[in-house]
Amino acid sequence: IVQAQGIHKRFGRLEVLKGIDFEVAEGEVACLIGPSGSGKSTLLRCINHLEKINAGRLFVNGHLVGYRQRGEKLYELRDSEIAMQRKDIGMVFQRFNLFPHMTALENVTEAPVQVRGESKAKARERGRELLERVGLADKEKSYPGQLSGGQQQRVAIARALAMEPKLMLFDEPTSALDPELVGDVLGVMRQLAADGMTMIVVTHEMQFAREVADKVLFMDEGVVVEEGPPDQVIAEPRHERTRGFLARVL
Ligand code: ATP
Ligand code: MG
Repeated sequence: IVQAQGIHKRFGRLEVLKGIDFEVAEGEVACLIGPSGSGKSTLLRCINHLEKINAGRLFVNGHLVGYRQRGEKLYELRDSEIAMQRKDIGMVFQRFNLFPHMTALENVTEAPVQVRGESKAKARERGRELLERVGLADKEKSYPGQLSGGQQQRVAIARALAMEPKLMLFDEPTSALDPELVGDVLGVMRQLAADGMTMIVVTHEMQFAREVADKVLFMDEGVVVEEGPPDQVIAEPRHERTRGFLARVL
């Protein structure tokens, strides 16, 4: 469902992604690990065209991300077309980014009503199901400020799921949380993976990666140094740089 071919991304003179290739099949969970500054967040942001790539091709769900191809030439899509593409992709960030003036349920129903034109009644019904799915059935009337970080993050996951994405991107979803709140969020993500959601997860939670990932990609300095099943990349890394990184985080 995701194909990245020779992705390059520069910020001014700084080359952040230096030719990234990978694929994620439908229903797979890919975990992206690597040191700070290696380009993990940038890669995720490229996947839903929050950043424009400088070279390479990126496909999500069979569509070229951000562009239309005619012959050899690429034409950038209009904002409305980019918005259409993004509907297939849910994203959850390190910081929860909930709308602070809306309740949990309103946060979850906002996009289905505003973007997809769902009826309020239907969106609320679905929204309640989603809050239940993330273990927050009793919090629908709470505002973000009344919820713990872990609860807010689970609302953020429910909100992303409300758009029925085909792909979920997670950028260190638990790294801003107090340790005792991490488990609940990882539990929701585990369940999502078990339900067959395709996911790309940037994480430092090696235990989660070992248990849930179908593949692990180790990134360093803008390249994928090593890729494979977790039993290989995490348990028996082939590359010195991977070993060095794991020695620091494990
Ligand atoms: P971390 O683990 O700390 O989140 P990361 O692997 O996610 O790191 P990125 O956030 O992708 O790393 O950043 C990669 C590099 O790109 C860094 O050197 C960063 O300073 C630079 N960078 C990221 N975004 C921008 C931007 N908008 N403008 C300029 N430089 C940027
Ligand atoms: Mg990052």
